[in-house]
Amino acid sequence: MGGHVDRIAEPWGGRTPYARGGTWPVRVDTYLADGLDQAAVQRWVQSASILHSDGDAMDVAVRDGRIVGVRGRAVDRVNHGRLGPKDLFGWQANASPDRLTRPLVREGGRLVESDWDTAMGRIAGRTRQLLEERGPGSIGFYTSGQLFLEEYYTLAVIARAGIGTHHLDGNTRLCTSTAAEALKESFGCDGQPGTYDDIDHADTIALFGHNIAETQPVQWMRVLDRLDGADPPRLVCVDPRPTRVARLADVHLAPRVGTNAALLNALLHEIVRTDRVDHAYVAAHTVGYEELARRVAGTTPEWAARICDVPAARIREAAEVLGTAARLLSTVLQGVYQSHQATAAAVQINNLHLLRGMLGRPGAGVLQMNGQPTAQNTRECGADGDLPGFRNWQNDQHVADLARVWNVDPSAIPHHGPPTHAMQMFRYAEQGTVRMLWISGTNPAVSLPELRRIRSVLAQDRLFVVVQDLFPTETARLADVVLPAATWGEKTGTFTNADRTVHLSDKAVDPPGEARADLDVFLDYAARMDFRDKDGGPLVDWHDPESAFEAWKRCSAGRPCDYTGITYEGLRGGSGIQWPCHTGAPRGTPRLYTDGVTWAAPDVCETYGKDLVTGAATEAVEYRALNPDGKAMLKAADYLPPHEEPDERYPFQLTTGRTLYHFHTRTKTGRAPQLDGAAPDVWVEASAADAAAHGLAEGDLVQVATARGALRGRLRITAIRPGLLFVPFHYGYWDTPSGQGPAEGVPGRAANEATVTDWDPVSKQPLFKTAAAALTLVERGDGTAAPAPTTTASAPVDGAPGTAPRARTTVGGPSAYVTESGPLPWDEYGGDRA
Ligand code: SF4
Repeated sequence: MGGHVDRIAEPWGGRTPYARGGTWPVRVDTYLADGLDQAAVQRWVQSASILHSDGDAMDVAVRDGRIVGVRGRAVDRVNHGRLGPKDLFGWQANASPDRLTRPLVREGGRLVESDWDTAMGRIAGRTRQLLEERGPGSIGFYTSGQLFLEEYYTLAVIARAGIGTHHLDGNTRLCTSTAAEALKESFGCDGQPGTYDDIDHADTIALFGHNIAETQPVQWMRVLDRLDGADPPRLVCVDPRPTRVARLADVHLAPRVGTNAALLNALLHEIVRTDRVDHAYVAAHTVGYEELARRVAGTTPEWAARICDVPAARIREAAEVLGTAARLLSTVLQGVYQSHQATAAAVQINNLHLLRGMLGRPGAGVLQMNGQPTAQNTRECGADGDLPGFRNWQNDQHVADLARVWNVDPSAIPHHGPPTHAMQMFRYAEQGTVRMLWISGTNPAVSLPELRRIRSVLAQDRLFVVVQDLFPTETARLADVVLPAATWGEKTGTFTNADRTVHLSDKAVDPPGEARADLDVFLDYAARMDFRDKDGGPLVDWHDPESAFEAWKRCSAGRPCDYTGITYEGLRGGSGIQWPCHTGAPRGTPRLYTDGVTWAAPDVCETYGKDLVTGAATEAVEYRALNPDGKAMLKAADYLPPHEEPDERYPFQLTTGRTLYHFHTRTKTGRAPQLDGAAPDVWVEASAADAAAHGLAEGDLVQVATARGALRGRLRITAIRPGLLFVPFHYGYWDTPSGQGPAEGVPGRAANEATVTDWDPVSKQPLFKTAAAALTLVERGDGTAAPAPTTTASAPVDGAPGTAPRARTTVGGPSAYVTESGPLPWDEYGGDRA
């Protein structure tokens, strides 16, 4: 292993096999532009990935004030030097010629160049006017999973205690709000129980709706290396698509979308029936066992097979593997989170681990994953519909404690109801109660469901829209004020990945033109608004990333996500650190719940929980009665049919998702030539049987229509389950002639033209995966294959008529060659495993 590898053609690179219980060897991936070699690099600046939630640590190569490449950090506990394709190539977007470099303001219906004083003056002026005329409830903030911790925290203080609004959420609502909610429902508090290191120790790895090969490619490399080593783990995969995970799985279950709760109930039924329950663990650490056992008594594999369209024997086989695992690691992502009964299903995966006592020791863990690199920080900092520091908005003591940290009166922090979730915020804007929406680092005009509606909401005259971003996105084009933002590599801050590892990202180069760090923008706004604490001092009294981080540490003290033991200095030079990190755990905490569940006690828990069917909040008194000792909660959930089922008019189910080569709405990855070339345009996946039944062939232009709208793309025939269509959700319109949306009356290409305005009642996460859809031919192909990668879940099915010979094999060519150095023993790098 080693040498130069085309990392578009071979996204996961070479193998470094290792045995169970061993240490993942180091392999350093390096990509430098323009034929430069390491000697040409003038500075290496420490950072981590901002294009998925692995949190791959890397050093940024700088030459003549420009970023010229990246190199994986060998000493880091997360990636041991490896980088994924998006990490390797995505940085090139920073230097795109179409970066926003000056503020824009709307004049006479057009966005025109302006200056910061004018732009910020307009925002502050409109804020004051609305506060006076309509109150704080007329102002909403919708942020990202892309900013840094310091920025989210500052925004949370401004929105909650400065403005006093309930309306602050992140686009993490679309991504992993179900992960947070499922953890809260089971353990009373958010926070990932497990760690990526569990991959080293597991004898069984179960992936539920988690295409880890494409969403967390570096941790998939870790799984691949285990599979190639001695004593490899067994894999269980639940996914309706033929993902790389599914192809290597010992058991692959491909259920009808929308039926996860039924499938999981059948798996739990089998665990209970075969008495593979760790009764001592259950008795010591949980409440609710009798009720759960009673509720799954009738959910047999035969019952689930009828609902899920999966053979009962295969469900039993999966249950056998899960039930006999000695060290079981489960991971969960969008196939669960963006689907019907999202939280109910995700909670059943926690139940599986609680029943089997599979928590808190090496190889026994749950990773309720994140998709976005900084999703965890929106949750911790309270920029996503929670209060900062995982405080409970229903607990007056927690609100009072937060008020103490901010030196404001508790009544200044809105807490008479739950914070507003994103879908509700857009509804308020549609109805006219929200009159100003400040959107930072996200692109709802492509990423939210039912885009025609979203465009009409954003385009209203009465709604003042502020967009803070890097590029003139589809959303920015609808704004009243556009603020040019600096991004990763151009500013300093910290962020936390899916396994609680905090990384520092230092500024490597200056941002283009007048672009400013998001933190600077929020500090400028706070100063202009002159927000004060109760003693008349400035509410926001920090002035740069490090002082913002120190302020956050004070807010996190004593809470589960305690950062008080972390400093910028401690993060420099070495590896990331997993919170909680404090005097009792000065080197961080690899696993939570090593000694029972600790954050579910009524006085400290983040939530009293919700009804898994209706989402209605449980009251404190009820929680105390149910869980007086603060144990983990085994919560049962009956299966309910999805809201939208196929019928004669819309006979297919439509699911949406992502590809390995793109992130979100391609704002960055669409501007990296290697990534864009690997997946340049939208496509539609269908099974060979469905294509044959409709007389369709690879490369035909097809239309996918639902009751909301339609999109068009080229057909890719894959081994996806029959009856299901898949469309990647990345593609919008910034690189089309209109720049903003489809031409009037013509179907567009964004998957969300067709998705539904509906959400999980508990997590409020939108349902992107259960629409009923029709598929029709628009135009025969000309022999060219669909623009879908062949290296991923979108690979053409072998032998389908007109497929494989026409599909262009996905390669990157000379511009995608990456240097892989290694394998080398971890210890050689001073690797330190706390
Ligand atoms: S692509 Fe999906 S999983 Fe990834 S950040 Fe976006 S919403 Fe989350």
